[in-house]
Amino acid sequence: MGELRMLIGGKLVEAEGGRTYDNVNPATEEVLGQVADGTAADMAAAVAAAREAFDTTSWSTDPDLRRRCLLQLQEAIESEQEDLRAELVAEVGCPVLTTYGPQLDAPLREALLWPAEMIERFPWSRSLEPKDPFGMGVTEREVWKEPIGVVGVIVPWNFPFEIAVNKLGPVLAMGNTCVVKAAPDTPWNATRIGRLIAERTDIPPGVVNIVVSSDHLVGEVLTTSPDVDMIAFTGSTATGQRIMQAASQTLKPVFLELGGKSANILLDDADIEGALAGAAGMCMHAGQGCAIPTRLLLPESRMAEGAEIAKASFESLGYGDPTDPSNLMGPLVSAKQRERVLGYIEKGKAEGARLVTGGGIPSHLDRGWYVEPTLFADVDNRSTIAQEEIFGPVLCMIGYRDEEDAIRIANESRYGLSGTISSADLDRAKAVARRIRTGTLGINGGIWYGADAPFGGYKGSGIGRQCGLEGLEIFTQTKTVGWPQA
Ligand code: NAD
Repeated sequence: MGELRMLIGGKLVEAEGGRTYDNVNPATEEVLGQVADGTAADMAAAVAAAREAFDTTSWSTDPDLRRRCLLQLQEAIESEQEDLRAELVAEVGCPVLTTYGPQLDAPLREALLWPAEMIERFPWSRSLEPKDPFGMGVTEREVWKEPIGVVGVIVPWNFPFEIAVNKLGPVLAMGNTCVVKAAPDTPWNATRIGRLIAERTDIPPGVVNIVVSSDHLVGEVLTTSPDVDMIAFTGSTATGQRIMQAASQTLKPVFLELGGKSANILLDDADIEGALAGAAGMCMHAGQGCAIPTRLLLPESRMAEGAEIAKASFESLGYGDPTDPSNLMGPLVSAKQRERVLGYIEKGKAEGARLVTGGGIPSHLDRGWYVEPTLFADVDNRSTIAQEEIFGPVLCMIGYRDEEDAIRIANESRYGLSGTISSADLDRAKAVARRIRTGTLGINGGIWYGADAPFGGYKGSGIGRQCGLEGLEIFTQTKTVGWPQA
């Protein structure tokens, strides 16, 4: 049973009026237990607590306290790592296999520790050349970096822990206070962090507040409150646009990590058979990853043969019960998401793409919100399934004429989050990489991920970068000061 209570002002609290809602396991459709159903009033209390903590405690000015607290939180989470693993599998429906990588262990290794280390090394100030700009005497000048204030952190359900800690680490290291709003479908990993903060760290009351709610719109308190200085959001592009609009009322900066429709470009000199034999890997976590390359670009002359190789890969993919370590794919997070994905598959067929395999609800799984690993070939890049983010286990194979055409197709997208390129010639792959308008790229299987690696999107995939120096700097304000030279 997970933690029911939220963390507000340093206390573990129930929602206003004791309201709760069910946390449901997407693989079994069973109710796991209850969690607080926070209201707008609860969110307002959390914002007030974060504001007060920022304005009245030494959090923003005491780097040693921040470092110590981040290390305490790291230790506390590690001590419950196996419980958290089971909880993530149960509430997210992610295969346990993925918890040994991006869903849990990979972020836990670095997401809090790297920012904690960087507190000392971050360039908090720099000197400018002394100047006499108005003929009134020479002035010494410095540029200072300072915390931005209260940050509203809004998290989605697909990698909820990974995304929460990759925001919490930098937000806290840079001296900010925050309110974290978990996604309605995946609340317990967030309330667990709240409990650990309250019970196992010296983080002053109000510095971190954790609010959960079945109502998405409780998040609007964060985006519109004049007491919140910035929003850090990961989620869909449509919600990101709404958040940006709401934040404009108080001129809050927004940091948006949004959707993706990335290209996996197999250049003509690549090991195309080898790449296609592993094509079903994109169904990891049922395709519920913003950076998964869901458009596979290959020479059009290789399409027929390539579709057969990829088909075999899709049909041999282990999927089903997410607690089974041999499965790479579990269910979608909710019945609503499954409907959405099935709707896209119908649209793909209607628009003329060739359904190679999958396309429906698996007959051998009688419970859980599963969709078969689904492969489309001969997809037109302008069609709906190639342009919109499906967020399900659906791969679109798209043929290109030559390298120039491949680059054009990869860039012909409203998104620009990630992608991969394969070629026998690294220089050629890098030259192509330079021309792809996305925030991250893997070449020949290389993995760019890390707490020190900026991650984020071009175009409709977002604004700003999470992680890396850029991901620390984004949670700071800049102050320029001058004084007469002695
Ligand atoms: P979503 O946009 O529906 O919700 C994300 C979060 O925003 C949830 O906590 C939700 O409750 C909250 N929210 C919804 N409406 C809000 C509003 N008006 N004001 C404030 N908060 C609001 O996204 P989702 O369906 O939970 O997540 C899937 C999406 O997230 C996909 O599009 C995926 O690509 C994207 N994603 C992006 C990244 C990235 O780093 N770029 C990472 C993971 C997921």
